[in-house]
Amino acid sequence: MKTAVIGAGIQGTSIALELASRGIEVDLFDLEDQPLNGSSRHTEGKIHLGYVYANDPCMATADLMISGAKVFTPLLRRWVGPDFDQVPVSEHFEYVIHKDSILSAEALNAAYREIDRRIQGTDNWNYLGQRTLQQAVTLPEREWKNRYGSTVAAVYRTDERAVDPHALADLLVKAIANEPRIRFLAGAKVNSIDRDERSLRTLDQHGSKLIYGPYDHVVNCAWAGRLAIDSTLGIKPTEPWNFRMKYFLRLGASAPVAFQSATIVLGPFGDVVRYGESTYLSWYPAGRRGWTSDIEPPQWPQPPSEEIASQIQEGIIAGLSTVILGANKVKPSNCEVAGGVIYALGSTEVDDPESTLHKRSSTGPITMDGWYHSVDTGKYTTAPLFALQTADRISPL
Ligand SMILES: Cc1cc2nc3c(=O)[nH]c(=O)nc-3n(C[C@H](O)[C@H](O)[C@H](O)COP(=O)(O)OP(=O)(O)OC[C@H]3O[C@@H](n4cnc5c(N)ncnc54)[C@H](O)[C@@H]3O)c2cc1C
Repeated sequence: MKTAVIGAGIQGTSIALELASRGIEVDLFDLEDQPLNGSSRHTEGKIHLGYVYANDPCMATADLMISGAKVFTPLLRRWVGPDFDQVPVSEHFEYVIHKDSILSAEALNAAYREIDRRIQGTDNWNYLGQRTLQQAVTLPEREWKNRYGSTVAAVYRTDERAVDPHALADLLVKAIANEPRIRFLAGAKVNSIDRDERSLRTLDQHGSKLIYGPYDHVVNCAWAGRLAIDSTLGIKPTEPWNFRMKYFLRLGASAPVAFQSATIVLGPFGDVVRYGESTYLSWYPAGRRGWTSDIEPPQWPQPPSEEIASQIQEGIIAGLSTVILGANKVKPSNCEVAGGVIYALGSTEVDDPESTLHKRSSTGPITMDGWYHSVDTGKYTTAPLFALQTADRISPL
């Protein structure tokens, strides 16, 4: 059996590695020269337990994140080997409730209690090495008032964590290179799928058109390019969608502040993540630069121009400084600006409590005619879970 996987991010490489482990030959296509150069490298890497999705009242998003988080470590460890244990992991996240949160502190508290109930009701955890997970607890004000400003209403300590996405990306690149059943086709942009031939039409970097196939199965994991490829088979989402470009700052060992990992909720705020020696800083109003509901986003620059980069640096530091004391000590010159594309269903922004950006449960693989699979990764957290589900559709164990 021969399978084509389009897109070598965390989703495509996970599927390729799982299929290869089941004895299947895989052609893995990417328009870039190297795997893992898209959003799966330029991400925050939080392995969600659901707290960010407190505004999904039916808890379907939290349930999906918990299912994804539960299998993340065992599956990646199987695919990349014991080196997975060396990937830097952040310490626990604090959830910092902003006074302008779109959900009240009471509503967030009720949601966190329910999410905790679901986490505690899940057994056999191996969450980035942790076998048991603590519930979210409210911190007394004396424990945080020297760290957060007057814009903060309350702070919760959670057991949620993030992995350093650069380190994990490097391990996935190595695993792909070491797997003889996977052939990586670099610089190959897939433009369309031929339904009758089950073949792919690609364009290389010199403008040459090539046809690959036929394949028994084709899996589309192209994230920013996924809808455009699906549309050549007449597949389109049934609800409005959007692509956003989100930039953030990455600091190396020179960070002037030993930041506590924190997510500021709920609305257009930001995150701080400290993994090993690197730190990730984001402030949504400054970092969210592009929005489109076109079938394919434009080539948003990555990294951005110097002028835009300096606006982003100043905006993120200024925004975070309204919440985190000491964030203004970060010097723009020490920060690398990077960014990635986010795809989600929804037509309004995160400051709208009704926005479907607060619900991410309609993600995962869809299958057409038994051979074409299109995978909406949804979140980094859920990629390994969806890889397993997709592989089961192709070659059940
Ligand atoms: C700033 C930021 C922060 C985030 N934070 C989190 C977080 O904390 N936790 C979380 O769970 N999720 C987070 N996400 C979301 C998460 O990063 C993505 O859901 C995930 O990385 C998507 O993985 P992917 O493999 O589908 O996409 P990608 O990693 O983008 O891979 C897709 C690949 O397809 C290739 N491609 C595209 N079009 C074509 C084509 N036509 N032909 C061939 N190849 C093509 C691209 O080059 C790319 O390599 C964040 C995203 C961003 C941008």
